[in-house]
Amino acid sequence: MRLSRYFMPTLREAPADAQIVSHQLMLRAGMIRQEAAGIYAWLPLGLKVLKKIEQVVREEMDRAGAIEVLLPTLQLADLWRESGRYDDYGDEMLRIKDRHDRDLLYGPTAEEVITEIFRAYVKSYKDLPKNLYNIQWKFRDERRPRFGVMRGREFLMKDAYSFDIDEAAARRSYNRMFLAYLNVYARLGLKAIPVKADPGPIGGDLSHEFIILADTGESEVFAHGDLVEMGAPGPDIDWDGDLEPMVNQRARLYAASDEMHDQARFEAEVPADKRMTARGIEVGHIFYFGEKYSKPMKALVTGPDGKDVPIHGGSYGVGVSRLVAGIIEASHDEAGIIWPDAVAPFGVAVVNLRPGTAEVDAVAEQAYKALGDLGKEPLLDDRDDRPGAKFASIDLVGIPWQLIVGPKGVAEGVVEIKRRATGERQTLPLDAALKVIAG
Ligand code: ATP
Ligand code: MG
Repeated sequence: MRLSRYFMPTLREAPADAQIVSHQLMLRAGMIRQEAAGIYAWLPLGLKVLKKIEQVVREEMDRAGAIEVLLPTLQLADLWRESGRYDDYGDEMLRIKDRHDRDLLYGPTAEEVITEIFRAYVKSYKDLPKNLYNIQWKFRDERRPRFGVMRGREFLMKDAYSFDIDEAAARRSYNRMFLAYLNVYARLGLKAIPVKADPGPIGGDLSHEFIILADTGESEVFAHGDLVEMGAPGPDIDWDGDLEPMVNQRARLYAASDEMHDQARFEAEVPADKRMTARGIEVGHIFYFGEKYSKPMKALVTGPDGKDVPIHGGSYGVGVSRLVAGIIEASHDEAGIIWPDAVAPFGVAVVNLRPGTAEVDAVAEQAYKALGDLGKEPLLDDRDDRPGAKFASIDLVGIPWQLIVGPKGVAEGVVEIKRRATGERQTLPLDAALKVIAG
């Protein structure tokens, strides 16, 4: 992409109402534009990052055996009347009427829709387990939308739904999601800890929120420090094997957010030097809810004994659009965003310091072409602007590498490369520079 033809409306200063650094930087980098309270347009740079996060989530869901579907944003109120949630859900639900006076709603989540689909087709325990997921916009009419896309009203969520014959099988599905989530966050360059969450009316221990640590987070967490260091299991585990030991190794360590926290237990279970209290951002939530939807909505399958039984369900959410902001909270400096390579909108910026000078243009074009061929998604800064302004905007938008081409270097047969995260610079012939960036 040539910056002179792109649409990257960067701002020198953040609007005064942006309170947290991720919101300020997303506005300044020209990633999003607020259209109404908690409702955003995604501009080209923001959209690229959103799509990359979405793709990481998709790959890890697929790896763990979940199957992608795309559900509608608008849902029939009648389905929610079947589950009993239409009235319970309250003011966060955006209710709509169509021209036939039918009640619709903009989906805040999709348990009812997915249960309706499941019950239409799946009739036997032999077709279980199944896990269907969806990456789709949701709407919740939050009382206080704030912090940009961190708490929007319209937001992108990955929601997965598992269907199993009994609780033991549902626990296996839960374990797969538990570990897949850790892999997602690790690939995004984040340290996420699973904390015990309120399981709701059915009780039990199968409910976890995934929290990334950041001072601006809305939740307070209390956890065993080892959880932060333990990391993700990695992709090569046996997804059909017994995952319980790997989950337990983590789930047995104390971790709770404010509403579930028990100070006495925290002190009894965690040695003083391991007690961690921090603020964090909830970027995922998984839970098992048993027959909560299958019973009222009659999602039954025939078991091995020939009897029809309601399936045992779980649901698993990742805040995809919230993660864009979460990654920025975890990875930035005074100059701007520092994207992890996995989600960077462009892999490298080729900064031409003297556009219009034939020899400089030639080297910049050559570098741009070579990096494109290497699959590095280069952005060519061919704007007619001061070097200082160019560096400031490229630093701001957080591209992991810069390859700087100027008249002096070209005369000497070298270019400069800079790693955004460390500020480390090297002056090298173009071929060698390309090798370093290619990794
Ligand atoms: P919260 O407590 O933050 O309101 P929640 O418990 O309502 O979250 P879930 O229903 O579990 O959230 O949704 C799954 C994920 O979707 C959350 O973990 C979060 O990352 C994301 N999410 C929820 N609400 C919003 C929102 N208003 N804006 C952006 N992301 C959201
Ligand atoms: Mg909520």
